[in-house]
Amino acid sequence: MAPYVPFHQGEVAIQRKARTVGMALENGAVIATNVPLHKKHDIESAQTVIVSSVDPVHGHVWVSPAMRFSGKILSMDPELGQALHIDAPAVFHPTDIFFENTKGSAAAAVSPVGVLAIDFANRARYRTNGIVVGSSEAGERIDIHVKEAFPNCPKYITRRKLPDNMADVTPFNVAAVPIVAHSGLSPEARALVERADTLFLGTFFEPTGADANVRGGNPGFIRVFDDQNGTRIEFDDYRGNGMFQSLGNLDVNPRAGITVIDFQHGSVVQITGDAFVVWDDQDLTRRKVALHVSQVRFTRHAFNYHWDLCEYSPYNPQIAPAHEIGRKENSETTLTLMRIKEESPNVKSFRFVSDRTLHFLPGQYATFVLPIPDREGNDDTCVRSWTISETIGSLLGDTFLEISVKRNPDGHASKWLHDEAKLGQQVTLLAVDGHMTPIMMSEDHIPSCSAANVLLFSAGIGITPSMAILRGLRGFNLNDTKVKLVHTERTEHEIPFAGELVRRNRVDPETDVHFFLSRRTQEEFASSLVSQASAHAGYATKDDLSRLLADVNLAEETVAFVCGPAGFMDSTTRILQELGVEHVVSESFAF
Ligand SMILES: Cc1cc2nc3c(=O)[nH]c(=O)nc-3n(C[C@H](O)[C@H](O)[C@H](O)COP(=O)(O)OP(=O)(O)OC[C@H]3O[C@@H](n4cnc5c(N)ncnc54)[C@H](O)[C@@H]3O)c2cc1C
Repeated sequence: MAPYVPFHQGEVAIQRKARTVGMALENGAVIATNVPLHKKHDIESAQTVIVSSVDPVHGHVWVSPAMRFSGKILSMDPELGQALHIDAPAVFHPTDIFFENTKGSAAAAVSPVGVLAIDFANRARYRTNGIVVGSSEAGERIDIHVKEAFPNCPKYITRRKLPDNMADVTPFNVAAVPIVAHSGLSPEARALVERADTLFLGTFFEPTGADANVRGGNPGFIRVFDDQNGTRIEFDDYRGNGMFQSLGNLDVNPRAGITVIDFQHGSVVQITGDAFVVWDDQDLTRRKVALHVSQVRFTRHAFNYHWDLCEYSPYNPQIAPAHEIGRKENSETTLTLMRIKEESPNVKSFRFVSDRTLHFLPGQYATFVLPIPDREGNDDTCVRSWTISETIGSLLGDTFLEISVKRNPDGHASKWLHDEAKLGQQVTLLAVDGHMTPIMMSEDHIPSCSAANVLLFSAGIGITPSMAILRGLRGFNLNDTKVKLVHTERTEHEIPFAGELVRRNRVDPETDVHFFLSRRTQEEFASSLVSQASAHAGYATKDDLSRLLADVNLAEETVAFVCGPAGFMDSTTRILQELGVEHVVSESFAF
């Protein structure tokens, strides 16, 4: 059965061009046709909701902000999670064009809306799109039937919060009226846009509906140009989840809206026009959105709220003059620790952000200088290498890099990372290197795999190159490559990434995962998570591997990667060679 593809032709066209089809399919698993019940609290507690709506006469897309310190903006019916309600009069400015676009039964029957519930303080956002199925002439409660719902990553969201003294303030200023212009931005509105760190983008494609989303960057990331063709707004499209819901809509319908809020003073600039994706011909990983302005509504002091700015996203690329923006080769650079995630009781993943783009292949490792003295007390010499375990986006260049490190109780650096390194900690990246990869990249950015069958053998923390290769293959849509991943661990609790591996084994017909548990008997793990893949007691013998590999043509089109303790690598390599695998690549974690 062909997998469900939650994308329309515009989204797929952009994904193809940006080489993110595989990444999009991986990330698209979160797209649902209803809002899951566990999201009810997030949705109902959002202090800001952004709604895109479509002018039923001209098809213009507008983006409208709704705010409320306490009390719900959105509420959700628990049944099926498909009905959302907006308490519209209490949360939108009374002059907002949203009321025009959705008011009245004739329009209401077909009004599409995109709804973004955003929690700036926690950098969380949830997107839904649907249609307005009920609203009164007076535009009171608006009922929305949800067609698509999904969470989005927090990557470029500026953190800000409403101070407590806003609790008793009414959200909007009823005296404010919009100044409507058909000829571009006033100097005041233009200045507001040019110094903003956040914009909201609305797009629309009739068969699938409207979409509302947020884009963030350091101030200056939105550029405004005036020329003989009118006013144009531009912003770079930073690397995201590769799904391209907004840009995909633009590919098939250029109508779009951009709204920028002055969070400090409550003024709002709403812009509508036609937007296009402009690609960098030299580098398809880089593109920008250019919106040609047809109408602007500027409402000075529309909201009474004054938000506190906490922090720009550390993922934001630096704003540099156009001629300075470019790819640099890997060389010494500073990384900042952004996220720590537990993968098993003694393995944690550490995600770092770099202020410049890094390129690497899935399976390669990064070498760091840590800001701690070495065992002998010398500074600047505590150098360690760790495999880059999360590699989506790595071929095209990425600003983050993730490693997964096992805590060695007698170790120096791994213990420091696990026990002492805090978010915000800086380390130096010396280089990225390594040959543990079957993935190649052509000059025109087309990834390919060197073999039809990839065999991944690991023990203990040697699993990190296997994970990187598997994630890289699927992330780059190399879905026809057959993968067998065979991992040995002492007990099931110690297996890092167990949940992800079991899931991949279940949903991906070309991925076959086997666990060997050296300290378990078959009965002991019969009911455990790993038995949902294929779990075996003891170490893998030659007979075991011969059986597991019976359906693979080992002599041709097959490459095996082996990583783990020295004894494991020796015996596995020998067995594979005896079974006829000609191409075996191994990597030792001991220097
Ligand atoms: C290419 C490559 C990729 C790698 N990828 C990963 C990965 O993805 N994940 C991962 O967790 N690791 C990986 N490693 C291993 C990693 O580089 C570190 O070696 C590991 O994290 C342990 O570092 P440490 O500083 O904690 O241990 P160290 O301080 O280096 O100690 C290691 C061991 O040596 C002993 N030892 C060394 N010196 C002394 C001393 N003076 N006194 C007492 N005992 C000593 C300790 O008992 C300890 O058991 C990789 C290594 C390489 C080469």
